[in-house]
Amino acid sequence: MTCPRIEVDIGKIRHNTQKIAERLGPLGIGVTGVTKAVCGHPAIAQAMLDGGASGLADARISNVQRLRAAGMTGPITLIRTPMTSQADQVVQSCDVSYNTELSVISALAAAAIRIRSVHGIVLMVEMGDLRDGIRPENLAGIAQQVMQMSGVALIGIGANFACLSGLAPTMLQMTTFSDLADEIEGVCGPFLDVVSGGNSANLPWALDERATGRVNDLRLGEAILLGVEPVSGDQISGLHTDAFTLVAEVIETDPEPAPSAIVLVGPNLARRRIAQASDVSKRMILAMGHQDTDIPGLSMPAGSTLIGATSDHLVIGTSHSLPSVGSEMRFQMNYKALMHAMAAPDIEVTLFGDPSTPPAQQTQGKVDHLALV
Ligand SMILES: *Cc1c(COP(=O)(O)O)cnc(C)c1O
Repeated sequence: MTCPRIEVDIGKIRHNTQKIAERLGPLGIGVTGVTKAVCGHPAIAQAMLDGGASGLADARISNVQRLRAAGMTGPITLIRTPMTSQADQVVQSCDVSYNTELSVISALAAAAIRIRSVHGIVLMVEMGDLRDGIRPENLAGIAQQVMQMSGVALIGIGANFACLSGLAPTMLQMTTFSDLADEIEGVCGPFLDVVSGGNSANLPWALDERATGRVNDLRLGEAILLGVEPVSGDQISGLHTDAFTLVAEVIETDPEPAPSAIVLVGPNLARRRIAQASDVSKRMILAMGHQDTDIPGLSMPAGSTLIGATSDHLVIGTSHSLPSVGSEMRFQMNYKALMHAMAAPDIEVTLFGDPSTPPAQQTQGKVDHLALV
């Protein structure tokens, strides 16, 4: 089989979506499956829908177009505020987009009118992540202006947490956000269909058994794909953390590596992880590098240590017996490594998987932050 490749267990993605949807459903919160980390891969998106996601979302129009080209007809939301230059494409392929700028919304309205449709607008509110969003005090004014435009319909508000700041949302922030939904309805009249509370970092808040207020949607990527909660990095209990495996091929082995290799690493390479000389009893080189994935985001198989990487080579030390040249090594990826690898032109994506296998629990040293089963 082709190397490097990503093996995707579709059944595990479906299972993860289902477990989360089962817990959020009774709270009145729907799951929007976020496909940006998998570049809008249609089969992975379909697994999210099969698991109970009510719709799909992506940050890039190219990914949405890929989903549409594969025949996806359900609702797809663009969750990054559109580029003005892409307004026509956005209204053609997305039912709804997240927005923060009136000039962009005007461009979307004009584009929607040209194709005789109405584009849904969710206004993104800045609640403390310090990335994108309208400040809460400006929200009502902007909402009123959107209401007056034809070609667009204000359908909701959204918040985002933990992406730039790395900070999980607080109860107070979520209550404030929920109150904003009431406030906007008071000012503007229409009922807001979508009150989207955030991303995977909101799961601890949502499942905390306290009131979730007006929030009726979460946009989930990492929790579904990798089974982890992004702020703590902990496994979400009951979910699979190994739906994705990156496989690379060994192209050279060295049973007695020269110790000088360690000394050669200069200060400008200080960010590379360098194994202790004692770990590196043997070395191997794999045909995969920075061009393919985010190397620090790979988890090394037991007994192996990352020595370093270049654009196209991954150098690994091992205390075990060396694999033969031509054999394969398997790695788990974090979200950044996954996102990078899914976008890499030389990595093939292979799908398989039966939904029935129960997830293995991580054992040592991990607290199960969220109990989903
Ligand atoms: C990426 C993204 C998400 C999904 O985030 P996860 O941490 O993968 O769940 C949700 N909303 C917005 C606006 C995003 O950019």
